[in-house]
Amino acid sequence: MYNGAAIGGARRMLIATGNTGKVAEYRILLSSWSDDLVGLGDLGITATVEENGSTFAENALLKARFYSSVAGQVVLADDSGLEVDALGGRPGIRSARYGGPEATDEDRYLRLLAEMEGIPADQRGARFRCAIAVAWPDGHSALTTGTCEGEIALEPRGSNGFGYDPVFLITSLGFTMAELPPETKNAISHRARAALAMLRLLRAHSASRGR
Ligand code: IMP
Repeated sequence: MYNGAAIGGARRMLIATGNTGKVAEYRILLSSWSDDLVGLGDLGITATVEENGSTFAENALLKARFYSSVAGQVVLADDSGLEVDALGGRPGIRSARYGGPEATDEDRYLRLLAEMEGIPADQRGARFRCAIAVAWPDGHSALTTGTCEGEIALEPRGSNGFGYDPVFLITSLGFTMAELPPETKNAISHRARAALAMLRLLRAHSASRGR
């Protein structure tokens, strides 16, 4: 049974991430659905689950289901990453682990630039992918996906966003993701597209239950 209002404010949703940049993006992306989005840190949840799925979708679903059973409330989880054509789709689902467990975001994108050295501009195509899963405490779930096409820049630019944003060039705009204001990123990103599709599912879900 839908239980979004059971804990906290109306439509509270737990975002299953410790990444405060991501929670901030979801607060904007899902603002028309809920003004009560919290991250794992806000609820003091430290439990972890191994992301051992073989796709972004599998990982998003397993995280949403796990944290929904831990927290007993509606949970949104995502899995995302960067696929680079010249690297056969790497780092893909290993994007967060690229460069090892101790690597920072900057270490990861500098390593990517090093791996891409010598690859000409017309062969630097890449895309961000995002899968979003929402799981309810009764065990049912919903899944959406989104992509954002671009290319790997020759050097990092910009200081907004997080992760690989400084080296991800939106070809049509001529700016890296990190040079874009958050409103623009949130209009075009992989996460924005998956979130918009999830908003539609949540509204349909809510309407079908007469709420
Ligand atoms: P996860 O979805 O939190 O596991 O993140 C996967 C990896 O992809 C991390 O290294 C993120 O920094 C990176 N990533 C995911 N979304 C974005 C984004 O919007 N911009 C830049 N990097 C991202």
